Amino acid sequence: MHTKLVLDEEDIPKAWYNIQADLPFNLPPVLHPGTKQPVGPDDLAPLFPMELIRQEVSKERYIEIPEPVREVYRLWRPTPLYRAHRLERALQTPAKIFYKYEGVSPAGSHKPNTAVAQAFYNRQAGTKRITTETGAGQWGSALAFAGKLFDIEVKVYMVRVSYEQKPYRRALMETWGAQVVPSPSNDTNAGRAVLAADPDSPGSLGIAISEAVEDAVTSKTPTKYALGSVLNHVLMHQTVIGLEAKRQLEMAGVYPDILVGAIGGGSNFAGFTYPFIGDKLTGRAPNLRVVAIEPTAAPSLTRGVYAYDFGDTSMMTPLLKMYTLGHSFVPAPIHAGGLRYHGMASSVCELYRAGVIEARAVPQLATFEAGLLFARTEGIVPAPEAAHAIRGAVDEAIRCREEGVSRTIVFNLCGHGHFDMTAYERYLRGELQDYNLPEEEIQRALAELPQV
Ligand SMILES: *Cc1c(COP(=O)(O)O)cnc(C)c1O
Repeated sequence: MHTKLVLDEEDIPKAWYNIQADLPFNLPPVLHPGTKQPVGPDDLAPLFPMELIRQEVSKERYIEIPEPVREVYRLWRPTPLYRAHRLERALQTPAKIFYKYEGVSPAGSHKPNTAVAQAFYNRQAGTKRITTETGAGQWGSALAFAGKLFDIEVKVYMVRVSYEQKPYRRALMETWGAQVVPSPSNDTNAGRAVLAADPDSPGSLGIAISEAVEDAVTSKTPTKYALGSVLNHVLMHQTVIGLEAKRQLEMAGVYPDILVGAIGGGSNFAGFTYPFIGDKLTGRAPNLRVVAIEPTAAPSLTRGVYAYDFGDTSMMTPLLKMYTLGHSFVPAPIHAGGLRYHGMASSVCELYRAGVIEARAVPQLATFEAGLLFARTEGIVPAPEAAHAIRGAVDEAIRCREEGVSRTIVFNLCGHGHFDMTAYERYLRGELQDYNLPEEEIQRALAELPQV
């Protein structure tokens, strides 16, 4: 029995899978924050190249992956799918556990799958510069890498606390040639206004988004803006993960009973699960269970409300209908930085509402416990975000043991944790804690939802 199922470069998918073709409902429209009317392509054109705007609303089932994008994908794709023999033995479970490993990309996570595509379409549209924000630094590094390959300047507004606490992520972006500034910065009106009020502001993702957007729309150089999660086109670019995993599981002679993924904005989860959910929606896999795992510190699906809300803290973005904890929600400082988001991608929310997928929240300590077990059996040190998926898969495998049934469990290992060793150090020293969000805090944040 194989440990690692590998595909040939020729097996890199030739098209992304667009779940909008198979959803039994329409996604709710995105609304303009001022008029509260659905936004049209012209509203988005200052920010994104037209091809990405087209993909955002497309209902074509497959969208061809341009050859120059597939050529870059060859640097690390197809990614391996592993059978977790040693983890299974450690858990004494009759379950078969598999994981798809996206940490083999140059940036160490799934994010380059969309960064490369976005850089390509921008290049094609004549964009010379892309601005973006980054919190933990994973998205900024993916875009820095992709921008360099397509000869586009990248400027990253990095939340100031992360800029100071994660110097190696910053150095990685600079190594790929990106300009990185701590946000709030003196480079934009939005940043200067925050600094005037509070020169020591630690920054936030919301402020950084405002800066990146202002820069993109006011720059004299042809500049666009890029997002690393949440939007439909971003989720679709990630479906290379699930499309490959499907073929690899065929090679292993199995079809999954349970799929598990970690969710922040929803992109790695969607990319991994949507090609299988397509089977479920079209009646070919009626019994497939799909489980999204979120942190108890930012439980958008399991405890948020379903409403229109801003995508950012500064109320600049269009309104998205989603499960939200409120745009003013300030998540606890858990180490899974990529999962500290108040909202969720629209299609993930709709599938949850329709009962097609399940969601569970897991606390920080149990997550690191699973991450450590994984590192000590399978060898790979997982990103704290990825450890959420491991926790979910381990719990399902334990259930199999207790019930005495064998199920095939497949999860997405969305990134490695080599830039997160401070978090592991603190866990090993016993310095980490659990955060359970008090109900009053949710209620307070929800009171600030926009009236639509
Ligand atoms: C960004 C990131 C996430 C969260 O984003 P999703 O869009 O939910 O995938 C999770 N894991 C890793 C490793 C990330 O870099």
